Amino acid sequence: MTNGRTRREFLGSMAALTVFPLEQERPELILHNGNIWTVNAAEPRSQAVAISRGRFLAVGSNSDVLNLAAPGVQKIDLGGKTVLPGFIDAHSHPSEAGRLHLRMVDCDLRSIQAIQGALRERAATTPAGEWVLGFKYDDTKTEENRALTIADLDAAVPDHPVRIQHRGGHTSYANSLAFRKAGIDEKTPDPPGGQISHDPATGKLSGRVAESANNYFDKVIPLDFTREDCREGVKLISKMLARSGITSATEAQGVPEDLRAYQDAHEAGELLYRAYCFINYHFLDQMLEAGVRTGLGDEWVRVGAIKLVCDGSISERTARLSVPYEGRPNDYGILVMTEEEMYAVGRKAHLAGWQIGTHANGDVGIDTTLRVYERLQRESPRRDPRFRLEHCTVVNDELIARMKALGAIPTPFSTYVYYHGEKMRYYGADRLNRMFALRSFIDAGIRPTQASDYPPGPFEPMMALQSEVTRTDTKGNVWGPKQRITIEEAIRVGTLYGAYASYEENIKGSIEAGKLADLVVLGRDPLREDPSNLITIPIERTMTGGRWSFEA
Ligand SMILES: [Zn+2]
Repeated sequence: MTNGRTRREFLGSMAALTVFPLEQERPELILHNGNIWTVNAAEPRSQAVAISRGRFLAVGSNSDVLNLAAPGVQKIDLGGKTVLPGFIDAHSHPSEAGRLHLRMVDCDLRSIQAIQGALRERAATTPAGEWVLGFKYDDTKTEENRALTIADLDAAVPDHPVRIQHRGGHTSYANSLAFRKAGIDEKTPDPPGGQISHDPATGKLSGRVAESANNYFDKVIPLDFTREDCREGVKLISKMLARSGITSATEAQGVPEDLRAYQDAHEAGELLYRAYCFINYHFLDQMLEAGVRTGLGDEWVRVGAIKLVCDGSISERTARLSVPYEGRPNDYGILVMTEEEMYAVGRKAHLAGWQIGTHANGDVGIDTTLRVYERLQRESPRRDPRFRLEHCTVVNDELIARMKALGAIPTPFSTYVYYHGEKMRYYGADRLNRMFALRSFIDAGIRPTQASDYPPGPFEPMMALQSEVTRTDTKGNVWGPKQRITIEEAIRVGTLYGAYASYEENIKGSIEAGKLADLVVLGRDPLREDPSNLITIPIERTMTGGRWSFEA
């Protein structure tokens, strides 16, 4: 708005909208004969919804809603199928992942042979000498029960440099040509904070590098994404999320290019989920200069919290703990930012009205982050800051009480118990009963969210539900059974609580008249399903804003 006239016009049009209550509109679409789980406590079940201009106009019985039908309205008979609000992934990295999917081979495959096949296929369409790149490889998940070697990669792709990143992001694997391009041979010493692995028998390069040794490759791999690439990445990941029933996602480590990519994709009609875009704290000053803070945007693309990072990771066992990892007596994990740094950045953001989301996994990391939040709120109280603890994995009663007192929101990993079971033994049985602590959070009156952290964790909401309800991994091992929640609770966590975490509980997260028409149609009813089969329930259709974003 550049002058008073346009501003008045704008305010006038806002006022005009409120003159016509939504109820006087005619629906464009009616879904009826459904088993609708509304996640609205006032009316938990219904049969039909009427939709107009992207929102629910009415929710109720078949007869009540069908009565609203004017000639020409489209009616869809759901045939008794179960409908839930669209799922909200409150912490993931979709825009970033979309770009990686565009450029890299997805190595989330169950055998080394399958990975070799996928790489060979990519090499066939890549000019000789150019890089073949992969990601989402996990050394614990291939049937050969061993890690990829340099020989595996040389055999699959001899004429292109190949580099595969581990799903956790801290290690990678390369072929001989790639090592040559990176300037590494078997005599190259380990860089500070990094490791170049060797075959213990021969002393030759094993193919694996860890932590800062990755920089050798990062420096020589041309991974520059154009503005078009960024938009394409959002388009690609949009389809993947829609297929799994997700209608909203938080970009948990966003940068200005992500905001632009989201706007570009939305304008092109390619954005199929609502993005709540966190901003990495390195960009805080730029944002403050531009007058931007949390909440700017609309229901499709909105500026989220400022993102800080306190400690390390759970899947790669670097989260900062008060008691060492099992079998590693001196290993407490790592702190990434100091408390004073977090306070200094946090204070700037807090005073400017930003929500703050801090990556904090271990109990020491969470304690440190809470101390910063408590100090900010003590010195400069805000009415509803909704401080977030990203991941918030290992907790105890004292930490939970402080979270409750602050009104803080945890976003624990939803699919880790099921998917990353083999990493759980490093935490021990007692600690696992205090990890991904949904039962404890809910009992304390805290609103935890569903959160995949994709790519490190799978984003499929049905896997999240199964993981949260059963606390059982793919091999049948149970991890931390005290934290099991019911399927009804898990659905609420994955919908309404996700909306609360982005200050949007009044516009989405449940199926209620006036809210955004975001929903998912399931092939079977999760309430009638054996909890260990939830993952097999097919997603039949996904709707975001009154339009089908996916139809099987
Ligand atoms: Zn993350």
